[in-house]
Amino acid sequence: MSERTLSLIKPDAVGKNKIGAILSRFEGAGLRVVAAQMLLLSPQRAREFYAVHKERPFYESLVAFMTSGPVMAQVLEGANAVEKNRELMGATDPAQAAPGTIRADFAENVEANAVHGSDSPETARAEIRFFFPDLAE
Ligand code: GDP
Repeated sequence: MSERTLSLIKPDAVGKNKIGAILSRFEGAGLRVVAAQMLLLSPQRAREFYAVHKERPFYESLVAFMTSGPVMAQVLEGANAVEKNRELMGATDPAQAAPGTIRADFAENVEANAVHGSDSPETARAEIRFFFPDLAE
């Protein structure tokens, strides 16, 4: 069944000019970009997006990183999009990410790790609304 997920190309990968290379990974795996926007998150919006992590010691550092430059937000659509995107991304820490994954190939470290991807269909719906409130479900 076709599904949608929210993907972000984070400021480190945008800065390294890897937007096209990363989007190609999604397209090559059969995921379709059905919405996209490049934007600079405000600290307030970044805190809201990562609110689930607000008690973690790295929260403020993560917010500073996510607001350090533009991000590319896109909605990916396809069969099992949430899980497929997570597989393409690889583990949070690039040192642990499987060879050939986006994070293994493009991430700097556990924080500046190139991409975000929704971790469940429920989270995907909320995160898609966060970036694309006008997109029909
Ligand atoms: P994800 O779902 O793989 O993105 O991982 P999490 O939801 O656990 O973490 C959200 C984001 O917080 C990650 O993608 C990283 O950018 C950052 N992060 C996670 N763990 C750490 C950590 O131990 N230190 C720092 N500085 N950042 C982290």
